[in-house]
Amino acid sequence: MKQSLEEALRASIRTIPDYPRPGIQFRDITTLLGNARAFRRSVDELVHPYAGLKIEKVAGIEARGFILGGAMAHQLSSGFIPIRKKGKLPHETVRVAYSLEYGLDEIEMHRDAVNAGDKVILVDDLIATGGTAEAAVKLLRQMGAEIVAACFVIDLPDLGGRAKLEALGVEVNTLISYE
Ligand code: AMP
Repeated sequence: MKQSLEEALRASIRTIPDYPRPGIQFRDITTLLGNARAFRRSVDELVHPYAGLKIEKVAGIEARGFILGGAMAHQLSSGFIPIRKKGKLPHETVRVAYSLEYGLDEIEMHRDAVNAGDKVILVDDLIATGGTAEAAVKLLRQMGAEIVAACFVIDLPDLGGRAKLEALGVEVNTLISYE
């Protein structure tokens, strides 16, 4: 019997209890990425709703969003934008701060990475509280990008990230969720 996409992806993701801190169930997608069929099916499914649209850029959030985003950009014939932790990009950047459980962090992208009006898809491996993706949405919109959707392999709906992005008017596309 053919395994459904959801079953196949769930079986390919490894859960590490209490990593990086006690109480966190870390959803490790390196096992999905290492499985040729699961990786291909994930990327195909993530790009499917946008095939045929003119998407100028896929923006990936460091670090696992780079792997998915590079493959998605190739499929969509789009450019790729790395959104990075502060201090890693060599040219002039725009930066946004966001809250973590303890304290603040900052992400940035090159100022010239998008043109006003560019249609952009944002991607990361997982959405939890949505704080990181919300900061990325702010960065991209600040530079005039039109965010067509934010895509994640994994949703943790109890943490409210999807609802946070939808409240900003962003379409959210996820493949599987863990309650
Ligand atoms: P958040 O900003 O709370 O939505 O967190 C999303 C970011 O943290 C993503 O880049 C994820 O890769 C990472 N992350 C948060 N929680 C987990 C988890 N339980 N397992 C794996 N990665 C996580």
